[in-house]
Amino acid sequence: MSKIDIKPYSIFTNVYYSGFQNNIKLYTKNICKGIRVYGENLIIDENNEYREWDPFRSKLAALLLEKPKFNLFSIEKKCLYLGASSGTTISHLSDILAEGIIYGVEIAERSIRQLIQNTSERGNIIPILGDANHPENYAKSIFSEVDLVYQDVAQPNQAEIAVKNSDYYLKDNGYLILAIKSQSIDSIQKSEKIYKEEKKTLELSGYEIIESINIQKYAANHLVLIARKKL
Ligand code: SAM
Repeated sequence: MSKIDIKPYSIFTNVYYSGFQNNIKLYTKNICKGIRVYGENLIIDENNEYREWDPFRSKLAALLLEKPKFNLFSIEKKCLYLGASSGTTISHLSDILAEGIIYGVEIAERSIRQLIQNTSERGNIIPILGDANHPENYAKSIFSEVDLVYQDVAQPNQAEIAVKNSDYYLKDNGYLILAIKSQSIDSIQKSEKIYKEEKKTLELSGYEIIESINIQKYAANHLVLIARKKL
């Protein structure tokens, strides 16, 4: 069997790739060797084990394949993750922020149960059953400001939720990564109009959008915004 050549991916700390051009596969280095979270491929290479990261199942992987300009990660960063679901993307973030903490907020009891089961070996994930519309309600579970807010909740007020949580928990120089699903906001309006309105909500709330990346190739009607607080 031919060996897969896995190398560090672009500027992004702790993200890896194999392949070329239109056939690139992304990976993270598994911090829980031998354990899969969602049936992903595991690749063993010398002393490391890599988990294949599917951009069709993770908007964060899709974003990275579109190469944003900033390295969003470092090994010890703290992240607030809104819409953690059963653990697909948050488990890759847990590999990336290996010495950091990820607070994973999820509203659905069934999903949080699966999240706990799927990530119980991962010491850097703190699952929180909560509604991202009310960030003050989980303040007792979040011990410090965070470097990163990642949001992937399918709700009609996506930008508003992102602002509320970032105002509450994001460090002044931290990044907000917001995956917007236009269909969850309005299934009749054109996506472009919805994206414009969500951007306006962020800007009027004191956030500067530093990148706007369409990930339609991997997730229909999705745009990802990367923003920072205006200082
Ligand atoms: N981010 C996940 C991943 O890539 O593995 C997928 C997230 S799925 C698209 C959206 C999730 O947001 C669902 O699990 C849903 O229950 C959760 N959600 C929806 N509204 C929420 C809210 N108000 N607060 C917290 N979670 C919410």
